[in-house]
Amino acid sequence: MIIVMKADTQPDSPELAQVIARAEGFPGVRTEVHRIEGSTRSVTEIYLLGSTGVVPTEPFEEFTSVERVVRVTEKFRSIGRHDAHLQAVGFDYNGIRFSQETLHVFPGVCAVDEPANLEATFAALKDNGVETSRAGVYKPRTSPYDFQGLGAACLPWVFELAGQHGIQVIAMEVCDRRHIDEILAALETTGQPTGVMLQIGTRNTQNFELLRAAGQQAELPVLFKRGMGITLEESLNACEYVASEGQPKVVFCLRGVKTHLGNPHRNLVDFAHVPVVRAQTRLPVCIDPSHSVGRMRHAPDGLPEVFHATGQGIVVGASMVLVDFHPDPATALCDGPQALTLDQLPRLQRYIGEMRRAYQACVEDFGATES
Ligand code: PEP
Ligand code: MN
Repeated sequence: MIIVMKADTQPDSPELAQVIARAEGFPGVRTEVHRIEGSTRSVTEIYLLGSTGVVPTEPFEEFTSVERVVRVTEKFRSIGRHDAHLQAVGFDYNGIRFSQETLHVFPGVCAVDEPANLEATFAALKDNGVETSRAGVYKPRTSPYDFQGLGAACLPWVFELAGQHGIQVIAMEVCDRRHIDEILAALETTGQPTGVMLQIGTRNTQNFELLRAAGQQAELPVLFKRGMGITLEESLNACEYVASEGQPKVVFCLRGVKTHLGNPHRNLVDFAHVPVVRAQTRLPVCIDPSHSVGRMRHAPDGLPEVFHATGQGIVVGASMVLVDFHPDPATALCDGPQALTLDQLPRLQRYIGEMRRAYQACVEDFGATES
């Protein structure tokens, strides 16, 4: 059961304490308080855990401080919408708002290599008004003989360069609890010049210890990538590990699924799942067209296939786009063949803008009447 408190109930308020005391008065019931910070309002929710089956809702509905009581019947207790009874409230991080209604593009390098390449990338982002990027430093590679990423040693200069170019959030993959600690330490020693969204890659989707570790820290939001070879439901369950540990700032990312039926693309594009994830969960949904398509080809109409795949996610309501760029894809140490070049950034932004307008017009035209 989830008790949603009225907007702006403070965590230390007597009203909250009263409701918790009432809940914990039922045998075998314990509570957890989750607070979701929004830009205009904050929502406090009390999760009732344990033997909640026989707990009635009425005693809680009587409190004037309670907005609603939701009986959770589904398994996605933390991330779920629970038959639309709960709102997708979103979250703020480092001055940027993430929700199912916002849209942010994260162009950047698959893997950090030379400082000059990263500087050129961040400079292009700045010139085009982009404050969000991606940069991999811990790379889980298929072969142990391939470039594994520069690791913790590059973090200070990566963060400093980001700060110099006004980058507020970098999506950065972590493969181990230790990586999270290294990122937090480097942000601290460099004076927090930027922010990091911890990326859980598709190869670690069911690394439950890593998911728990990402959920146990409160500082950094988490970008969870769906498993490439498991069902959507299994991925949502895995994602629930992060949120159930206490970190509600999670974005769910679609990145294609592995099947030879996706040939000649690297993965089969699964962006039709954007509205499905939005309906089932409260999470903003990201798409990664680069790792889905996996190559840089142009269609006969002149648009790169990566653009077309991006459009497929934007027109169905994606909130975030992770997209690979490199100043010189031919020399990139990881995934160069799928990277866009920096001169293509303004075109991609214009293209995304058109697709977003189409999506919003469709929601206005059909959203209210269709169900
Ligand atoms: C990445 O984004 O760099 C990456 C490795 O993606 P995925 O985990 O989706 O393969
Ligand atoms: Mn990659």
